[in-house]
Amino acid sequence: MLSDRALAAFRTALGVDRVLDDDATRALYASDETPRRIEPDAVLFPTSHDEVAALMRIAFEHRIALTPRGAGSGNVGGALPAPGSVVVSFECMRRVLEFDPANRIIVVEPGVVTEEIERIARSAGLFYPPDPGSNAYCRIGGNLAMNAAGPRAVKYGVTRDYVLGLRAVTGSGEEIRTGCRTTKGVTGYDLTRLLVGSEGTLALITEATLKLLPAPEAVATLRVCFADNHDALAAVSRVMRQSVVPCALEFMDQRAIDAIRPTGAADDLPPGTRALLMVEADGAAADLPRQIAALEQALAGSGLLEMKSGFDRAAIARLWAARKSLSHAVKRIAPLKINEDVVVPVSALADFVDFLDHTAEAQHLSIVSFGHAGNGNLHVNLMVHPDDDDEMARAHMALEAIMLRVLALGGTLSGEHGIGTEKRRFVPLEIDPPTLGLMQAIKRQFDPHGLLNPGKLFPD
Ligand SMILES: Cc1cc2nc3c(=O)[nH]c(=O)nc-3n(C[C@H](O)[C@H](O)[C@H](O)COP(=O)(O)OP(=O)(O)OC[C@H]3O[C@@H](n4cnc5c(N)ncnc54)[C@H](O)[C@@H]3O)c2cc1C
Repeated sequence: MLSDRALAAFRTALGVDRVLDDDATRALYASDETPRRIEPDAVLFPTSHDEVAALMRIAFEHRIALTPRGAGSGNVGGALPAPGSVVVSFECMRRVLEFDPANRIIVVEPGVVTEEIERIARSAGLFYPPDPGSNAYCRIGGNLAMNAAGPRAVKYGVTRDYVLGLRAVTGSGEEIRTGCRTTKGVTGYDLTRLLVGSEGTLALITEATLKLLPAPEAVATLRVCFADNHDALAAVSRVMRQSVVPCALEFMDQRAIDAIRPTGAADDLPPGTRALLMVEADGAAADLPRQIAALEQALAGSGLLEMKSGFDRAAIARLWAARKSLSHAVKRIAPLKINEDVVVPVSALADFVDFLDHTAEAQHLSIVSFGHAGNGNLHVNLMVHPDDDDEMARAHMALEAIMLRVLALGGTLSGEHGIGTEKRRFVPLEIDPPTLGLMQAIKRQFDPHGLLNPGKLFPD
């Protein structure tokens, strides 16, 4: 329970209108994309690095747990308030502090919406590649904390690959700067890479210096239809073995295709299509025909029904809008989505979906798979009815089996969504005790009283 003294201290530091503890505000900040709700004791809205440092020092003095929050679009409970905690919402810190096209960098506060960075970069012929499906509303602070990625990761990598330096405040209120402003730099330990993906458990990120690339001149898209999942994913493996790296290589299974039908994007698929690939190439316009020819050659093979190219801009936009709608569209199948984002080596994808099909059949479950196949990263969604105890028990058994299979194939529990509250119990399956112990020691060094996002990332 937040004491009156602590509340008064926050109000002195931030101003009364940026420290809210009324019922409506607490209810509004009680959840992220996970289906659970925990109301925080209050919500703080800092507007600058100095205010973040001040509020952290107050939290340290009064031993108040803080839950950092961007847009609340995370789907593992990362921004779900820990019981009795205070939410720190970064939505009022949305200044672009510097845009330097000559050095291809942009310096932003954590509340800047990801798409805004992309838009500013494009205005100068530059390009910020990380493109989570939520980029129209998620914030860069959330992307940094989760090391977010999207379809372009197959060619361009993830958020971490575009962070040159950070400014942040540790759990004891210490202000730190990591990294540098240049595209090379090896001075000291790489704390930038440590903080990116730390899920708000090590420090509050208040500023990020991001690297930009020259924007590719042109893009071409292929829509490739297969008779089954196995053949489609065997084709993905062939694509990733040859020399042309696509800038997107997305997969949808039959149920995912059915989920996008209301958008009209699946109207003209050939009969018998049970799996779909969206494959994109980018680069110099003159080079695209060569790239597309190489990709087509790799994609051709068993189970191929149709390979279509030459889409105009509007058709490509429709395809991507349908793909991006999937995360919510699948909820029409059943009210609760148990949402995993496992990764397996690309060469093991075809076997892995066979295993998923077998598991769905054996446990009488509806499993929908789609995602960033070029990275071996699949969103495996178990669609369930939370009131059906028997179905929930079968889903949990299936989940355990899926995680074990992922690890046996040499994969990892999460490709981009992170651990949050939802996957904590699986962490010891992947990370051995000495390594986990070292991570916990690092956490104590940054956050001696365990005030930053407690109950996340680490198993109980
Ligand atoms: C429709 C949809 C599509 C999605 N597609 C993708 C996708 O393609 N790829 C992908 O990677 N994710 C995707 N996501 C998940 C989500 O959007 C990302 O995890 C995103 O990075 C979260 O950003 P946010 O601003 O909403 O952060 P939040 O959900 O508010 O927070 C996420 C985490 O960051 C921490 N945090 C936030 N700000 C800070 C800060 N300044 N300092 C320290 N910690 C902080 C929070 O405590 C929390 O742990 C999708 C989600 C939805 C709903």
